[in-house]
Amino acid sequence: MTVDRKKVIETQIELSNLIGCPGHEVEVTDYILVKLEKLAVDKAWIDPLGNVLAIKEGSDPNGLRIMLDAHVDEVGFMISHIDDQGYITIETLGGIDKRLMLGSLIQFHTTERKRIIGVVGTSPPHITRQEDREKIPPINEMFVDIGCKSYQEVRDMDLDIGSVGTFYTECIQLNNNVLLGKAFDDRTACNVLLQVLEQLKDIEIPHTLMITFAVQEEVGGRGATVAGFTLEPSIALALENTIASDVPGVPPAKMITKLGSGPAVTAADRSLIVPKKILDRIKTAADMDGIAWQYKKPVYGGTDAGNISITRSGVPSGVISVPCRYIHANAGLLQVDDIIETIKLVVNFCKI
Ligand SMILES: [Zn+2]
Repeated sequence: MTVDRKKVIETQIELSNLIGCPGHEVEVTDYILVKLEKLAVDKAWIDPLGNVLAIKEGSDPNGLRIMLDAHVDEVGFMISHIDDQGYITIETLGGIDKRLMLGSLIQFHTTERKRIIGVVGTSPPHITRQEDREKIPPINEMFVDIGCKSYQEVRDMDLDIGSVGTFYTECIQLNNNVLLGKAFDDRTACNVLLQVLEQLKDIEIPHTLMITFAVQEEVGGRGATVAGFTLEPSIALALENTIASDVPGVPPAKMITKLGSGPAVTAADRSLIVPKKILDRIKTAADMDGIAWQYKKPVYGGTDAGNISITRSGVPSGVISVPCRYIHANAGLLQVDDIIETIKLVVNFCKI
């Protein structure tokens, strides 16, 4: 199997730079719909919640109905207050570490999809007491400064309570194998899913593929919950971007995953215990091409697979993830090789 490395990198950069906060994912779903036009799916549509769903029919009417899920949203912010001086207060959408905030650049998205950039401000250290400098306030007690001097000026920029934004980070290729950027959770898996469809474009497989680009994962897997109900899969795989903790000071037992060790396979997380038959199918898929993989150490995090697994009468589900350092932060770091090996693993999983 040959995966087009250049295309993987290009798509990763494009997807990373899009804005898709939970509940406001249209920029990403529009991008995906355009890509799907060239990927030989039999049907693609947007459901009432905003998920992109697509079906690629298998050759065997008795084949499996395999659901492949990647989420399109990323962690972000929502404007909760604008004061008379034009300072903006935000709440988080999804889990963000407050230690990352002060001094960070934020980009808000207007209804016309314009980007308005600001900085998370703080009072100057010179006038702050020593003990206060060591404390990090809650995110909703910080403020974002977009350079406006009044409430009205902010409103004239087409921002209001309920407007959303993300960290402002342009995706950068650090070397042949390493990318740095925001929203790798879970645009990486959107990329994987698009490349899997590219690989299977001209191949007939017995099973029907039920593709979900799901919305609102970061606020509780809402998109995948309804998609699982609509599609009625017989088995499911959530494709994710997961925590790599191969950084200084982390003991081996807490090394959730490592960069460069291939796709991370979940045995259990807080939302799901993966059935043996799904794990076995993943292992067989890896053996087909000698794909190196690693376990994601239990039981951190939860994914769409947890929600899908308990739709209707129950769906045996698993999770395959691309490891990434510093997820849910201004900039994550990952390896292109891990993406490519994950693509191969998922293609084989579908073919068996
Ligand atoms: Zn995710």
